[in-house]
Amino acid sequence: MTMTGNVTVTRIASHRGGTLEFGDSTWAGFNATAAMAVEEVEFDLHPTADGRIIVHHDATLDRTTDTHGAIAEMMADDVRAAIVDHAGAGFCHPLFAEELCAIFADSPVTFRCEIKPDHKGLPYPGFVPKAVAALEQGGKLSTTTFSSFLLDTLADLADATDRPALWLVSPSILSQVGTRGVIEIARLRGIAEISVNIDTASAKLKEMAEDAGLAFGCWAAHARPQIEKALDLGVKVFTTDRPTLALAIRRARQETRA
Ligand code: FE
Repeated sequence: MTMTGNVTVTRIASHRGGTLEFGDSTWAGFNATAAMAVEEVEFDLHPTADGRIIVHHDATLDRTTDTHGAIAEMMADDVRAAIVDHAGAGFCHPLFAEELCAIFADSPVTFRCEIKPDHKGLPYPGFVPKAVAALEQGGKLSTTTFSSFLLDTLADLADATDRPALWLVSPSILSQVGTRGVIEIARLRGIAEISVNIDTASAKLKEMAEDAGLAFGCWAAHARPQIEKALDLGVKVFTTDRPTLALAIRRARQETRA
């Protein structure tokens, strides 16, 4: 959470630039987010075969564009030519990392950068230092928090940068390993923050995490009840595909309190 005056505010992260409002990882969504009162913009990075870095959720272009193929096996020009399938106006191709940095150059919205695995679920070899370098070159590293579902990727991040990185804990990991197991792994791995799917979050889980010294956040709070739940729990931060709705709900609560 963020302290503003003496009020603690749950941070909102516009997920992939606000997928349900602007399409998935679109130019329109990131531009809109840069001008919003959200605290963070969440996005995912993938390498191309010729060493560029693309901002896209999936490891392939199959689901979200008119083009098929794994980004890491394609040349940047070919990825760039894909048309992102969304209803919004404006530039409609996948963005390079440096373009995302440029969009947010003058925005107070900070980066929440997720390092994704390849289309087989494995970390891209040697990718983390390149992603870190790209954000540094774009002038945004100093305000970036990283995230990943993969413990090996979090280890790579710890080697590559001093910037904070949080562990995205999937529902299956949480149920299989258990809350105590997740906390123990975080302790052993030097992880300072965890984030769980909003539907698996609870006051008890948050309390156990915070008692263990972990910051606690949620992801995928897209519907109004999920956003309300995240705000009721008072989590540090949550990601949402509906940043405009989340802001309206948070603002209404702040006005009621005032
Ligand atoms: Fe993500």
